[in-house]
This record gives sequence, C-alpha cells and structure tokens, in this order.
Amino acid sequence: MHVRRSVCPYDCPDACGLLVEVEDGLAVSVKGDPEHPHSRGSLCPKMNRYQDTVHSPRRLTVPLLRTGPKGSGRFEPATWPEAIDRIASRWRSLIADHGAQAILPYSYAGTMGLVQRNAGHPFFHRLGASRLDRTICTPAKGAGLEAVLGQTPCPHPTELRNCDLVVLWGINAVATNVHGLLEVREARRRGGKVWLVETYRTPTAAEADSTFLVRPGSDGALALGLMHVLERDGLLDRAFLDAHTQGFPELSREILPDYPPERVEALTGLPAAEVEAMARAYGAAKAPCIVIGGGLSRYGNGAMTVRTIACLPALVGAYDRPGGGCFGHTSTGGAFALGEVTREDLLPGPVRTVNMNRLGHALGELSGPRVMSLYVYHSNPAVVAPDQNAVLAGLAREDLFTVVHERFLTDTARYADIVLPATSSLEHSDLYKAYGSYCIQRARPALPPVGESRSNWEVFGLLAQAMGFQEPFFRQSADDLIDHLLGLPSPWRQGIDEAALAEGRAVEVAPPPGPRFRTPSGKVELLNPREPHPLPRFLPPHAEGEAPPFSLMTAPSLFGLNSSFCERDELRARRKGMRIRMAPGDAEARGLRDGDAVAAFNALGEVAFALEVSPAVPSGVLVAEGVWWLEFAPGTRSVNALTSQRLTDRGGGSTFYDNKVDIRKLG
Ligand code: SF4
Repeated sequence: MHVRRSVCPYDCPDACGLLVEVEDGLAVSVKGDPEHPHSRGSLCPKMNRYQDTVHSPRRLTVPLLRTGPKGSGRFEPATWPEAIDRIASRWRSLIADHGAQAILPYSYAGTMGLVQRNAGHPFFHRLGASRLDRTICTPAKGAGLEAVLGQTPCPHPTELRNCDLVVLWGINAVATNVHGLLEVREARRRGGKVWLVETYRTPTAAEADSTFLVRPGSDGALALGLMHVLERDGLLDRAFLDAHTQGFPELSREILPDYPPERVEALTGLPAAEVEAMARAYGAAKAPCIVIGGGLSRYGNGAMTVRTIACLPALVGAYDRPGGGCFGHTSTGGAFALGEVTREDLLPGPVRTVNMNRLGHALGELSGPRVMSLYVYHSNPAVVAPDQNAVLAGLAREDLFTVVHERFLTDTARYADIVLPATSSLEHSDLYKAYGSYCIQRARPALPPVGESRSNWEVFGLLAQAMGFQEPFFRQSADDLIDHLLGLPSPWRQGIDEAALAEGRAVEVAPPPGPRFRTPSGKVELLNPREPHPLPRFLPPHAEGEAPPFSLMTAPSLFGLNSSFCERDELRARRKGMRIRMAPGDAEARGLRDGDAVAAFNALGEVAFALEVSPAVPSGVLVAEGVWWLEFAPGTRSVNALTSQRLTDRGGGSTFYDNKVDIRKLG
C-alpha cells in the first residue's frame, strides 16, 4: 500500500487536496490531505468515497460503436485505432462537404485541471471547428463584479474570520462551498453574525443567525433598498465614498430615491420593516462582508444583480476594513499562461461561436453551416443543458455524428455514435487552481488507467495524429505541457515553494502588488460609463409576469454536483429520489400531499417528481435540487426540461433559476 497526493477535480471552489491509498493499482481509500492549506484534511460527502466512482462497475473500459437507435444505449466494443479512424474519416468527409465549422465541441468543467479541461481547445482551433462559448455557470457574476471592482483581487478566504457580519447572499455554502463555510463558522465563533439571503430555506440557513427570503430574481431590489435606507439614515462612510468611489452623487440622485422600503417590499416580498432593520445592522457593522453566490446570477438580470450588491459595501466603507467588502471568487488565472494550453494562435481565421446554453437551438435550428458533428467531453448536456427537450431532439438527429468521451454511459453517451472511455482524475496528470482559495497543485497519476480509458489530452493527441496535424505541440505529453507552464515565470508564483509544488503538494499563490482598486478609474465604480446602464438599477428577471404560478429553483444538491455522482448508489440514496418541494399552504390549496406523484410543467416540457411538502419553501416557489440521470428519474425527463435557453443580461450566462412552472397530480 502506498499513498499518493491528488486533487478533487470537480467544479467546486475548493479544489481540495486528496490522499489516495493505492494497493495493487487500485484506490482503496480517498481522504482529505491535512497539509492542504485551504481544505485542511476534510472533504465533502461526495468525495469521501471517490474510490467508488473511480472503480465503479459502471466505468466504461473500451471504445464503443453504436448498434441501436440513438438514445437506446446499445453499442458494441471496438478498438481504439478503429474508433479514432472512424472519427477522423467521418470528420474529413464532413469538412469536405460542409466545412470544419459544422463540427462543434462541447465541454465544460467535468474536470477542472487546466490541461485536461482545456485539452480540446488547441485541437478544435487547429481544425477550424465552431467555438463554444463556455458560459453555463456564472459569467454574469464575473461581469457584475467586474463592472464595479474591475480586476481587484478577491480577499483571502481566511479574512472572513475577521468579519463581524457575514452575509451569505444567494449561496448554499453547505452544498457548494464547505471550506469557505469553515471560515464563516470561525467568524461566528468569534462573535460575528451570519445572515443568509435566499429564495428558500436551504440547509445553509442552519449556519445563519438570520435568514431573509426574497422573491426569486429580486435580490438587486433589496440591495438598492438597503442603500436607500443607509443614505436616508446617515449611515454612509462619506470619507470612503469621497476618496474611493466614482458616481455616488449620481446614484444618490437618480436611482436610490426610487427604492424606499415599501417599494422594496413589493418587489422582493421582504417586509419593509425587515429591510429597515437589515440596513441599520449592516450600517452599524464594523467589517461586514457579503459572500456572493453563483445562484444570484442565473437570472435574466443576473449581472445587474451582482453588480448592485457589489456596490453596497462601498457605501459603508467596508472595502477599507480588514475582512470587509465582498467575496466573489478568487481569480488565480494569472498564475499560469493558459494561452499556452488553449493556443488561440492555431485558429485558421475567424470562426463562429455557439453559446453552450443554446445547444438545443444549435443542434436544431442553427444554419450556415448546420452542426453535423458534436464532440462531447467531460460534460453531459443531455441532462445538464437547459431546454432538455430541444437538446434531446437535436441529439436524436440521425444525420448528427456524435462522439462522447466519458467515464460512464451518461444520457449524452447513450446518443453517441462512438463512445470513448475516459480516465478519472486519479489516472492522469494535471495542474489545478482554485476559485475559492489561492491554492495551486500539480497532480500526477495515482493509478494506472481503468481498462483502456484515456485522458482528454491523450485522445486529442490521437485525433491530431489521425487528422494529419504536424505541430509538435500535439505530440507532447500532459506532463511535458505542465513542465512548460511551470517553467514560464508568473508574478503570482513569486516566492512559492517550487519543490513542494513539484512533489504534488498544494501551495498558495498571491495576487501581484497593485493599486487597491484595479479599475480604470482606480476607484470602486458605482457609476461605470462603459456599461449599457452606467448606474445600477433593478431589472426584472425574465420570468417576471409569466403566467405559470410557481418560480422553479433548480438548486444544488448536497450529494451530487450537477449530474456528477449519479453513478454512486449511496449518494443517490441520500438524495431520496427525484423530488420537488412545495410550501404546505400551496400544497393544501392544490389538494396535494407529501409523497404524491406530480408533474411540473411549462411551455417547454413536463417532468415527473415525487412531491415533498416542506416548510422550508415559501409560497409561490418550487424547489428541485440536483440533476438526475434519466435512468433514475421517475418519468422520461429531468429538471432541465423546464429550464429555458434564455441568457443573462451580460456574459451570455445560463438562467437556470429564472423559470416559471405549474404543477399537477399524476395518475
Ligand atoms: S468540497 Fe468541493 S473540492 Fe472539496 S471534495 Fe467536495 S467537491 Fe471536491
């Protein structure tokens, strides 16, 4: 038995350090690495038995060729040379008939390592394929923060300990940021207060002193109402506003008068007296910090909402206090020259870009040229992309040549013409950075590949060879590329322990020195003249005013991560089936009871659930946590048959929480 260091590869801010016990080439246990500066030895429930994912009997071990109808999941085994030859010859013929842009890659963050995650970029750039705008997560959050703070670095997560008020705004940290939550607990232990602002009582409410529930998509109105009261009651930090902000006189004159607490109550559902009390407590705090979640931004008004909330700390000077301000996400991108992986220079010229949130549209309606081939790697769009019915109709097209590189026979893989078995993170090399801390870490394979599985990097090397690409870049190994990246200097990595990094330990980088606020004006930009709306304001979400009566929250689960971890029996069991939660009063009004088989529906589709009547959910809201593979769904569709392809106001992001549905009893 020996122990290897590795990193959690999933799309989570923490990038936890792992210690993997290996015996006879198999992972026998996976534990947290106590030496990891951020995760400090603990893992979330999903990763505590990662060996059960890695050695799941569901793992794909050989390439597969389709033998049945698309979606049937009927395949026969093939060799790697046979599979690669088929892909290359079909692509050559498609390129001759339709041009390379008829080929569309599709990937997101099934694995977060820089090399494996981005391994397809140089290949598809060299091919001249359509580009994918990878915006399914929180680009609107980034756009909103940048509008106010530019490139100002996020505080170190340990600074949260120093806050006397932490506002968890739109973040179910128990599910999505468990190690950031340790810092929040420490702040509370030291006497600080914790608030949660949410659309329903998530499990994170148990971590908070006060929970404030607002109508979905109305958070920006609450932020404006708080600013209104802060100004009205003389709770502003005038010295900070004068010295470090741009545009407060305009904000004060043109916007804030429109958001008195009574109007904010009408917009958010939060009683005016609570808005007043929140503002007074926030204004009185010495070092308040708002932890801004991703959920806030998955609405048609998502970027404006985040931008508005990011203005709030400036009014009380919180950005100037240790621990105060707002915590969005750490951006350690500068630590490595990512362009050396993505290789934009290989593009043959301008190519079109397809937004990943509009895959259904791209497969069904896009022309010039029509998408004739889809290559999916470490993503499962058949269930995670919005508007599932449109996506599945596209995947079912007989003239669409689909290749899926995956660890499991996912719903997307079932529609593939060719399935390629993928390595897990324990079986390949990679280089990781985090977005909830400043840690970076190198991982080497802890195990040999399961079966004949191969990494993204290896498969794109094989495809490059088969397509006749001569560039030496495609012939190097993942470790060669990692060595190259680490050989390039970066001010972020100055002074780090290079030896520790080389031997696979996590080390912390730091933002290079610079001005306090890294915006064009050098100030917090309450007014940003480069934005379509120079001042923050409340924009209604897409679904406001739509007819179905219930707002649908497609929230994260504690025991899954999007569609990842559905392969694990014990984690599925802890999720207790595919349920939709409803307020007791709403259930009674509809004659529905706990445990009823119900269907939620709207103009896009209909999805079967088991009903859970829950006091955690306010009236007018329905909550469906997690994404389920169709084989485990009570009906034929999962929750994204109810979510739309509409995009956010900035950033081209997804709007998963901005949908209305109705509900009825089945049977
Ligand atoms: S908390 Fe996040 S990074 Fe850590 S083990 Fe869980 S999913 Fe992975």
